[in-house]
This record gives sequence, C-alpha cells and structure tokens, in this order.
Amino acid sequence: MAKKIIVGNWKMNPKSAREANDISEKIFRGARKLKNISAVICPPAPFISLIKGVLGAQDVFYEKDGAYTGGISAEMLKSLSVRYVIVGHSERRSAGDTNDIVNKKLKVVLNAKMAPILCVGELTRDHHGQYFHFVRDQIRQALKNVSKNIVHKIILAYEPLWAIGKNAKGVLPGEEALHMNIFIRKVIADIAGATTAKKIKVLYGGSVDAKNAKKFISAGKMDGLLVGRESLNPKNFLEIIKNADAV
Ligand code: PEP
Repeated sequence: MAKKIIVGNWKMNPKSAREANDISEKIFRGARKLKNISAVICPPAPFISLIKGVLGAQDVFYEKDGAYTGGISAEMLKSLSVRYVIVGHSERRSAGDTNDIVNKKLKVVLNAKMAPILCVGELTRDHHGQYFHFVRDQIRQALKNVSKNIVHKIILAYEPLWAIGKNAKGVLPGEEALHMNIFIRKVIADIAGATTAKKIKVLYGGSVDAKNAKKFISAGKMDGLLVGRESLNPKNFLEIIKNADAV
C-alpha cells in the first residue's frame, strides 16, 4: 500500500529557529515509527536548512535567477533537499498569484524534479455545483502545457477556502471529500488519461484535526492531508498522523 502523505504547512510560524527545530524534531521522531505515513513539514524559508526530515517549501518564484529581490528559485530549494513545493495556496492566490503564475510555478518545480503540491478549492459552495467547474478550471489552467507523462508527479490538494483557517465556516463531510476526490481524478483523466488519474495523489486540507483526520482518509479516500494550524503543535499533529496511519 502506498504511504499516506501528511503535510504540515507552518505558514509564517513559529517565531524562532529554536522553536522550529524543537517542533520538527518532536514530529519526525514520532512519525518515524509509523509505516504507512510519510510526514512532510513545510517551514518558512529561513528555517528550511535547519530542519532534518522530509521537507516541503510553501512557495517558489518561477524565474531561474536574476534581479528578483526576495525571490526563491526552484533550484535553490532543490539544493536544500526540498522534495515538495506548495503552489497555488489560497493565501498566495489572494496575495496575487493568478492561475497563470501558478502554472509557471508548477512547471519550475517539476523541471527541478520536485513534487508540486497544487492547491485548488472554491471560495464558497453553491447549490448548482458551480464549484466543481471552478475547481476544474483551476486544475486545467495550472496544468497548461505540462507534458502528460509527468502529470502523475503532481500532488493535488483540495482545500475549500470556506473550510480553511480559524474563520472556517464549516467542516467538509467525508462523502463530499469523496465526491471531490472522484471529480479531481476525472479532470486529470481528461487531461492525462485514466492511468495517471488513478496514480495521482489527492490530499485534503481545511481544518484537519485529530478528530476528523480519519474521516478524510477513510470516507474521503484521500491519499493524505494538508494541515495548517494543527501542524505547529507536535502533539496534535502526531495524533493526526497516527489516526491517518491507523486507517
Ligand atoms: C491551509 O491553510 O492550508 C490549512 C489547511 O489550514 P488549516 O488546517 O489551519 O485550516
């Protein structure tokens, strides 16, 4: 059985390198014992080189090098042994990342031989299922001109915006996670074929905690989870990981 991927997105936390070290050590020490899980931490960029464990980055810039103050290239991340890069997170999208920018970022990550974690998800739900079209459009645009035979390297993270963060309006029911999982695979099948659609990993993100983690993996048939707030608390994050391991 393929390992479930549980990704912690620390966002702009914690405050110090010492805390980052301490939290990550506890998480990786606990996660190492579990056979069915691959735990990944996406710390803020300044802490990446300090952390020993499977690493992801929260963002990337799409240019190779040059006069781009503050920019971090895919090659730089690769040189720090980063394996995963989040692209299209809703917080980056609301800071200006268009679908076109997400597409450029996704391509540089693939070119650098890392796995992009492509975040997609609707802002709100409607009764007519327009949100499915919205998600399909985000995926299609992000994958524009990506060679079909490398699409399986992309990890999709379904993150409905209304279910993310401390102002979340609700929690996604397990069967609705399953509907979206199936729908995302259908979109991928149309783009890159049925074999890729079966192979690709789909994660769920949005207010995941120790109580609901199992539901997304079992009822939602997700290949893993993308966790925000709870990934900064080693005890809670390990509880999520253990519950996902037990499914
Ligand atoms: C996120 O912002 O990607 C996220 C999943 O956050 P949280 O788990 O805090 O809802």
